[in-house]
Amino acid sequence: IKFLQGLPKVELHAHLNGSLNIDSIKELAENVYGQQSDEFASMCERFITFKKGSNLNDCFQKFAFVHELTSTRKGLERATELTIRDFAKDNVMYLELRTTPKSNDNMTRRAYLEVVMAAIEKATTEHAITVKLLPSINRGEPLEVAEETVALAIELGQKEPELIAGIDFSGDPNQGKFSDFAPVLEKARQHGLKLAIHCAEIDNPSEIREMLMFGMSRCGHGTFLGNSGFAHMKEQNIPIECCLSSNVKTGTVSSFGSHHLKQLFLADAPKVLCTDDCGVFDSTLSEEFVLASETFGLTRSQCIDLTMEAVQHSFASPEEKLKMKMRLYAFTRRQ
Ligand code: IMP
Repeated sequence: IKFLQGLPKVELHAHLNGSLNIDSIKELAENVYGQQSDEFASMCERFITFKKGSNLNDCFQKFAFVHELTSTRKGLERATELTIRDFAKDNVMYLELRTTPKSNDNMTRRAYLEVVMAAIEKATTEHAITVKLLPSINRGEPLEVAEETVALAIELGQKEPELIAGIDFSGDPNQGKFSDFAPVLEKARQHGLKLAIHCAEIDNPSEIREMLMFGMSRCGHGTFLGNSGFAHMKEQNIPIECCLSSNVKTGTVSSFGSHHLKQLFLADAPKVLCTDDCGVFDSTLSEEFVLASETFGLTRSQCIDLTMEAVQHSFASPEEKLKMKMRLYAFTRRQ
């Protein structure tokens, strides 16, 4: 575990409002909103509790708790800083953070993104970590919202190309139709934004086919791709972002031992290990590596190779990738 904690890691699948761990949620609440009640403490407990038989729906309901805390500019700014601090503490050297721009009485979607971008810039001067931002499309929201998000990502990405790297397509997979969103995702792609798409999180063969035809830079979860889907991903060199705790706690995968990471290893298909929502799932990227190592008997060198794969499939520039590889080599030489 010490080795995995010390390993400089790469996190490619992390949702901002799912990544705040319980201590940071308490810190955020205290910093921004003052002393909290007993009711708040019990809400925190419920937040990280997953009963046996929990499903994706139970998970999606949990986000409302954090969304309330990040519904003000100050709350959102502090949440972004704390999230980056916590990833840096876990020796994550490179982080791609996704978040769905939200509008409310306090902020427009543009303001939401600007607050997150400014907080990233501040936090990355304080911690040894590089952070990219992927604005998310929530498939459960109307198409007009997705269109606004993509327009903002294109505009802000032109101003800060090193920061905004792509678009994430996520949200409850039981809601919305991928085909409705394909044109706006295509527009993003035409403007040079990379696409990280939640695909095959549930068993929906016709949507999976549509998504594979459409293409993507990286695939979130890929749980129900099956062997032919894995072969397709290998052929196209599209990595599958594997999130062990998330998949098992939400019940889309029945146990760690039956996680498709094993098939991906056997097929020698591209894969990266990620947390998804390390706050909600009460985990860290180091702990996900420990889980993968214990479950599948990964050696130290396989863990380093997995990290190297993540560097390769990140949306970082060639110079940034080189820097990460050098940090990894320096770490392995010290072992
Ligand atoms: P936010 O975008 O920063 O608010 O992060 C939380 C949001 O990410 C949730 O409301 C979902 O829309 C999305 N999300 C988090 N985890 C998952 C997942 O496992 N599948 C699909 N969407 C997810």
